[in-house]
Amino acid sequence: LMLLTRKLIEIRNILKTVDHETDALTLPSIVVIGSQSSGKSSVLEAIVGHEFLPKGNNMVTRRPIELTLIHTSPSNAGRSSGPVEYAEFPGTGMGKVTDFKQVQKMLFDQNMAVTAEECVSDTPIELRIYSPHVPDLTLIDLPGYVQLSSMDQPEQLREKISNLCDKYIAEPNIILAVCAADVDLANSPALRASRKVDPLGLRTIGVITKMDLVEPAAGAGILNNNKYPLALGYIGVICKNKLGVFQNASGHDAISGNGALTARTFKEEEEYFARNKEHFAPPARGRNKGVEPMVGTSTLQRRLMSVLEESMGSSLHGIANAVQRECEEVCYQFKVQYNDRSITAESYVAETMDALKLKFKEFTERFGKPEVRHLLKWNLDEKVMDILAQMYWEDPRAEELFKLAEDRKLEAADLDRYWQYKIDASSSALTKSGIGRTSTQIVVDALRHQVEQLAESEPFNHHPEAKERILNFCTDILRERFSLTSDQVENCIKPFKYEVEMDKSEWEEGRTRSVSLLERELKMCQDAEEKIRKAIGKRRLKKAIDYVQQLEERKRKIALSKIQEVEGEATNTAIDEQQQLLAPEYSNALLGKAREAMFLNHRSNILKLRMNALKSKRCKGGPDNRAFCPEAFLNVVADKLTYTAVMFINIELLAEFFYQFPREIDSHLVYDMDKQELTRFARENPTIRAHLELQDKKEKLELVMDKLDSLVKIYQEKQAPRRDS
Ligand code: GDP
Repeated sequence: LMLLTRKLIEIRNILKTVDHETDALTLPSIVVIGSQSSGKSSVLEAIVGHEFLPKGNNMVTRRPIELTLIHTSPSNAGRSSGPVEYAEFPGTGMGKVTDFKQVQKMLFDQNMAVTAEECVSDTPIELRIYSPHVPDLTLIDLPGYVQLSSMDQPEQLREKISNLCDKYIAEPNIILAVCAADVDLANSPALRASRKVDPLGLRTIGVITKMDLVEPAAGAGILNNNKYPLALGYIGVICKNKLGVFQNASGHDAISGNGALTARTFKEEEEYFARNKEHFAPPARGRNKGVEPMVGTSTLQRRLMSVLEESMGSSLHGIANAVQRECEEVCYQFKVQYNDRSITAESYVAETMDALKLKFKEFTERFGKPEVRHLLKWNLDEKVMDILAQMYWEDPRAEELFKLAEDRKLEAADLDRYWQYKIDASSSALTKSGIGRTSTQIVVDALRHQVEQLAESEPFNHHPEAKERILNFCTDILRERFSLTSDQVENCIKPFKYEVEMDKSEWEEGRTRSVSLLERELKMCQDAEEKIRKAIGKRRLKKAIDYVQQLEERKRKIALSKIQEVEGEATNTAIDEQQQLLAPEYSNALLGKAREAMFLNHRSNILKLRMNALKSKRCKGGPDNRAFCPEAFLNVVADKLTYTAVMFINIELLAEFFYQFPREIDSHLVYDMDKQELTRFARENPTIRAHLELQDKKEKLELVMDKLDSLVKIYQEKQAPRRDS
């Protein structure tokens, strides 16, 4: 029947990774409880055959240790090259640990990670030990009961430990109650706790340690205990001698280099019980006639195996039924929620990246030369407007240019040098404004903005790291292309810095376009002015404007009088008048608004004049009249610059970016991830995570169900002959 425990331990470990709602899926385990210094660690180490538990005065067991012992066949181990005995900490990603001193250190560190204020933690440490010398067992070591309250072990700690133990000693676990022979059983907190949950002692085994510390007769008396009877009985052991070390017969330290207890370790124990066999042999008469008191570590091992196996056996049907129910429920859920569709992390990643590439492709189709052209032209139109405002509309002689345009007799060549100079300067201001950089920047910004949107949209909102990667390689490509593109554009517009040629039809198109741009500008000015008027009130605004105009008039006078003062004709009247004017009802804010309205009004008037000029015969006359019609001229220049910039940006930036980006997705997000990263990525998405989890649960439960089915069959076959007899 050995097989049963082993298989069930396997099943137990699978079930532990399935988050199940009911406790019905828990298979029994042996829980070791006892007060501090009762010899609990020594018993566990004797069972394992290694010193591996952390030692120290300062409460070194602060977390439950869930210990799974797995019996390995020595012949098998011999054939393969792997180590014979080793430990593993599942879930830590750490491999096999062959040095048990190292195990001890790791356990110590994991226990000490629980802070002193916290005292104890419920989170178990999982440990598996593979060895040909251990039976298949699952044991849980718990912090020892605190018996005496002292300063450094407060009442609260005592309660915490006892709560933790209560949780573990519940059904269906088997309780190993450890008591020292030299302490009255009446004082054993382990027995007390066990009696509360298992009054008949049906699942409690008493272990009496330190048998060497009491008289053999007294020791035997404890084992035959009638005062606190346990159905599973008591077993006496000696795990250490009076010096606290395992010793062999010859008196030498029996612990080998890596902490292994040799077979001879228990010789002393064996000899002790043999020496006193009159006490530990079966009594000839009486109630327990023929029943040998149970002594020795190997007896304990065998006893644990058979008790656990029996307990597992009786749990078998219950657990099989519970797993069956759970499995059906999960299968149903999987069908309803996911229509039985299986996914993998790989398939999710592949689908996600394909979707990303598709969305990107759709974008490339929406963002071609016309869109880039539109973007750049809009920007250059703004720039032209700024130049016009600066060079012409704010020029005090702006109106003069309008009058000149009306003058039929004037030849373009006869125009004042001033205006010739202005048109050249304006054209230069536009062509030399760093078109290469700005236009490249505009397109780069647009591309980056689009990629940002892609990287923020479902499902990448769940994958912040992937999003970061996408933005990074997007930036890398753009950075790499930037200076190349901008230099290329700058180079190609170079001729325009010296001369811009245009024919009549180009001119005409530019002229019409500039009329509509001015219309737009005019509308903006008028709207803004109207807004101010509405906010302040027509009359109030008018008064404020009058006031500002007067102020300005005074200022002009003062300036004039200052000049006169210098010339010796000082008069104080202007200054007096200035002071009279300081009327307090006009706040600075109101005056500011009034000035703004005045500016807008003036600008509107100029714009109207300019529109008339653009519609005049002179401006319709063609590019020779450029000095009269800077708006039309600059518009054509902007158009030519845009055309050239678009052409090279399209080749150097767009085409390259559209080609490289999807390839970078592959190399940075698909091929770059190993299995673990793929899984982590997929699980970042809560929907996928839930899907994967349910699927995983279903697969595990189905596996367990399979295993249980065959076990039930084997078990029934083994039971059948017994039932017959
Ligand atoms: P725990 O605190 O319950 O884990 O107890 P330990 O296993 O650390 O043992 C407490 C003390 O009792 C240690 O000093 C051990 O050396 C000693 N000890 C344990 N088992 C025996 C034994 O069978 N005989 C004797 N004489 N001492 C023992």
